Amino acid sequence: MAVKGAETMVELVKRRFLLWKDVVRAGDFVRGSVVVLRRPCTYAGCRLCRDGRRHPATYLSMKEKGRTKLLYLPRHIVPQAKRWVVEWRRLEELLHQMSQTNAQVLRLLGKREAKSKGGRA
Ligand SMILES: [Zn+2]
Repeated sequence: MAVKGAETMVELVKRRFLLWKDVVRAGDFVRGSVVVLRRPCTYAGCRLCRDGRRHPATYLSMKEKGRTKLLYLPRHIVPQAKRWVVEWRRLEELLHQMSQTNAQVLRLLGKREAKSKGGRA
């Protein structure tokens, strides 16, 4: 008998299949965050820099091997970058759910193996 609250193999495989269908339908994505940074320019007499406002610009911030990389995003590309970031997070969550489902599948497979080898009654 299945443990109270645990899913059966049929339910797990069905859930995994539904998650997989969502994964393969994923659109373009990028791993990172869209951030606005206020950086200084190189003009000595710049009023914006002098009074602290500086120059706001939008970047895609990406972590690679512990280092942050910035990709400048021209205004017209910002909405697309934001959509791709959202899609990455959705995909990441789906993969996380699939991983959890597969861990449950492994747990059930392990129990079956124990039973077939004459485990506890
Ligand atoms: Zn400036």
